[in-house]
Amino acid sequence: MAQNFVLVIHGGAEDKTREDISPEKEAGYRKGLEEALDAGYQILKAGGSAIDAVEAAVISMENNPLFNAGKGGALTIKESHEFDAAIMDGKTLHAGGVAGVKSVKNPIKLARTIMEKSEHVLIGGDGATAFAKEHNLQIVPEAYFTTEEKLEDVKKQKQNQLKHTSKDTVGAVALDIHGNLAAATSTGGLTGQHEGRIGDSPIIGCGTYANNEVCAVSCTGDGESIIRGTVAHEVYALVKYKGLSITEAAAQAIRLYKDKIEKDRNLIALTPNGDIAMEFETELMFRGYRKGDEAPYIAIWED
Ligand code: ASP
Repeated sequence: MAQNFVLVIHGGAEDKTREDISPEKEAGYRKGLEEALDAGYQILKAGGSAIDAVEAAVISMENNPLFNAGKGGALTIKESHEFDAAIMDGKTLHAGGVAGVKSVKNPIKLARTIMEKSEHVLIGGDGATAFAKEHNLQIVPEAYFTTEEKLEDVKKQKQNQLKHTSKDTVGAVALDIHGNLAAATSTGGLTGQHEGRIGDSPIIGCGTYANNEVCAVSCTGDGESIIRGTVAHEVYALVKYKGLSITEAAAQAIRLYKDKIEKDRNLIALTPNGDIAMEFETELMFRGYRKGDEAPYIAIWED
């Protein structure tokens, strides 16, 4: 019998069309997704934990300058970097998050350290950097994160000339062979956001959620809309209390109160049975999954 372990990842969702992304860049995204998927999959395949797998997949994308997390993160209106990330263990319901942190090379490692080594769920700003230093996480100069492309994006944004905001936030959900679920999300936030702005990613129940009983979820899209829709918890609630399948729950959760919450909400989700949802309302979502012995699946566009 095939072993039931699954990893699902996303690298953000955007309203860019095929004309907006060169074939070279698309190939780069596909390679980045493949590498991230493999980083987490190898852990699951070796019998490792879902929490290790989601962390490894997210670290791979944080280190890849194409994605909006860690290196290559979006810049605030002050042309600075502030990162949000969260991780949740579906077995224990322990969670860790970091908001508006600077200089920490891998924000998801800091989120996990907060989960495991503190009494808290969410630490922000300078206190988060201090916590990272206390726990010997790697600190890098701000210039490490900045790419020409993202700097240009924020400059264009200031002149109202940016056609599409890059929203390549990253996330992963996993199910391990022990039946445990986990979720992780990491982001540089929105291009040109106010300094100090915090998005959905580090908020448990909004951008990130995992519970062995029901599902694991990682969101991407307009953070304010995701927070106002408490999207990750909404998926959980629709499955738990309404008995919807994960695909139905995901489709409904991102569209709830659309008359009041206009901007895009998108997500990946996974159940303890290994059922997957990858639901988006944008033109594209960078995404992929790999199940047990099956070949990896990578996709960008709807088809
Ligand atoms: N949700 C993220 C935020 O608002 C952005 C994204 O998903 O791309 O910070």
